[in-house]
Amino acid sequence: MTAIPIHVVDTFDDIREMLAAEYLDESQSYPWIVAFSGGKDSTLVAHLVFETLIDLPPSLRKRQLFFVSNDTLVESPLVVAHMRQTLEKILHAAAIYKLPVSGQVTTPDLKETFWTLLIGKGYPSPNRNMRWCTDRLKIQPTSKFILDKAAENGAAIIILGVRKDESATRKASIESHQNISNSNLTPHGSLPNAFVFRPIVDLSTDDVWEFLASNNPPWGGTHDSLIKLYREAAGGECPIVLSQDEAPGCGTNSSRFGCWTCTVVNKDKSLQGFVDVGKTEFQPLIEFRDWLVEIRNLPEYRQVERRNGTVTIKQGKHIPGPFTIEARQMILQRLLDVQTAYGSELISQEEVELIKQIWAQDLIQTYTRKNA
Ligand code: SF4
Repeated sequence: MTAIPIHVVDTFDDIREMLAAEYLDESQSYPWIVAFSGGKDSTLVAHLVFETLIDLPPSLRKRQLFFVSNDTLVESPLVVAHMRQTLEKILHAAAIYKLPVSGQVTTPDLKETFWTLLIGKGYPSPNRNMRWCTDRLKIQPTSKFILDKAAENGAAIIILGVRKDESATRKASIESHQNISNSNLTPHGSLPNAFVFRPIVDLSTDDVWEFLASNNPPWGGTHDSLIKLYREAAGGECPIVLSQDEAPGCGTNSSRFGCWTCTVVNKDKSLQGFVDVGKTEFQPLIEFRDWLVEIRNLPEYRQVERRNGTVTIKQGKHIPGPFTIEARQMILQRLLDVQTAYGSELISQEEVELIKQIWAQDLIQTYTRKNA
């Protein structure tokens, strides 16, 4: 079957028709992986894909479909709750309709979580020059899922809710990828045997909101909680991130649905939006994040040497090492105090245990080096 070219698609019926044609195209019958962040664009894609599947006769629903979401474990609390609840609803409804759909929430490896690296190993709070988090918290967990599916099935097709209208950077990034001839698929830039399909690439932001406001999701309920979430968070989103070049919004001021700990942005806007509408339980989290920014470059909290014992001098300037063990202990204690005040888990017990093991190893290594 010949793919319906994306440039002739201009209505939602056309998009559904294009999705059905792609789904039924046996020349590329690899599983679909819908990258679902819970934000407006991926919700629209999930909505349209789900409707397309329901409309197909059961005998034609042969292609396996996965909804994959990522939880950095430091997500903005209301956003991650919304994402998890919606994914659960999608999977529940898919089971009722007997659709070939399953789903997973990927998370970073325990050794690579935000707290393990910041408090355990003393990585300085991330900033624009040292954004060590995006790859470990977002790109690697989802990429691993995609690579596993591609290895099991020969290849995999990622359905992304990205749009040119999001920003000039996004438009340039989308336009830099060339479709395979006579197809709507683009080879993924860094994941071998993974292809990308962007069914809503030409829609405007108004198109997306208009559709979500006037159509209930096929998995039941309404999109009202999503619309409310955006209104309270004052807009913006942090989509599923699959590579650095697809993540222009991650940790920038245009991204307001990122990690609540994000010290790459100047001010956390999503939590502030929630506080402004009366959700004051998030105020201690905002203060903690601001404090992480403040202490980042204080020399008394940073080791002279790096974790491997070397001292870095660049262009005659000393580059400080990680947070000192004392600073890491102070950060953990303050985080645990915030967690008590907040009343819900911000750091897991496994992370706390691993962090203490890393501190012990660091102390032993420092002692051994000094006495060698
Ligand atoms: S939102 Fe901020 S802290 Fe989270 S991964 Fe992106 S840059 Fe890092």
